[in-house]
Amino acid sequence: MKTLDDVLVIGAGVMGIGIAQVAAEAGHRVFLFDAREGAAAQARDTLAAQLDQLVAKGRRSRAAADATLGLLTPVAQLRDAACAGLAIEAIVEKLEAKRGLLAELEGLLGDDAILASNTSSISITKIAAGLRRPERVVGMHFFNPVPLMRLVEVVRGLQTSDEVVRRVTEMAVAWGKTPVTALSTPGFIVNRIARPYYAEALMLLQERAAAPEALDACLRAAGFRMGPCELMDLIGHDTNFSVTTSVFEANFFDRRFTPSLVQRELVDGGLLGRKSGRGFYRYP
Ligand code: NAD
Repeated sequence: MKTLDDVLVIGAGVMGIGIAQVAAEAGHRVFLFDAREGAAAQARDTLAAQLDQLVAKGRRSRAAADATLGLLTPVAQLRDAACAGLAIEAIVEKLEAKRGLLAELEGLLGDDAILASNTSSISITKIAAGLRRPERVVGMHFFNPVPLMRLVEVVRGLQTSDEVVRRVTEMAVAWGKTPVTALSTPGFIVNRIARPYYAEALMLLQERAAAPEALDACLRAAGFRMGPCELMDLIGHDTNFSVTTSVFEANFFDRRFTPSLVQRELVDGGLLGRKSGRGFYRYP
């Protein structure tokens, strides 16, 4: 098996840049790739600005911030990171896109690399099916924002090897995370439990029973760190909607997981939340 010293993160969106940051802070050499030209370099620039702010507030030393950025290299092609012993994909939540990417990675990284998916809901068994060595595919489901959230669901597909689960679990602990092993059931643990929470909030909005501000204020006052609407804006409505759709379909269209018309309207309109500047709320 290759060492996990070099990590390739694919997808430089909300999650990918967070995973890349945490890996670099733990001392790995990290390569960041995104299919959209310039996106990986742009994500690194955004991270540099965020680290500057932390340094200014005294929450990071200049040396630590520079070390993190020094370990993070945007790459224009996947083959530029062929040395990686671990690839973590955080691309769009679509089965075919993930399958296509992993097939390409299998050719590029060799037989000994671990291929991890940050999918929120898609079966690891399905993502791995058809690969030459499905036993080295595993879910590493981080939570948003990655640098702050400790939980990582380590998801075992039907063919994932014990050795691969052990190695990524140990690595997650070394990154300061709290790994929990989950089986590859639809939505795993957290997203299965969270679906009805989002669904009920979206239903209240659809019934015009409450405005987003009121819903968020209630749940915050009840002790949640964020209300459901601001949380969905943070996650991204496209991602949240894809996850619900995937859990719904994987549970044989169980009505409990029916996706929301309100959320589909937001996705259709490009109102994806923070990342697009507007969701339930507007962002500067
Ligand atoms: P995002 O839309 O912010 O970023 C996805 C990035 O992947 C984009 O920059 C896009 O250009 C890139 N991309 C798309 N297809 C690609 C391909 N074939 N090859 C390379 N790059 C490609 O999405 P996100 O919110 O970061 O979600 C990414 C993954 O993480 C999804 O599987 C999602 O379910 C999961 N996830 C998201 C959250 C969340 O809160 N947003 C939490 C946990 C897990």
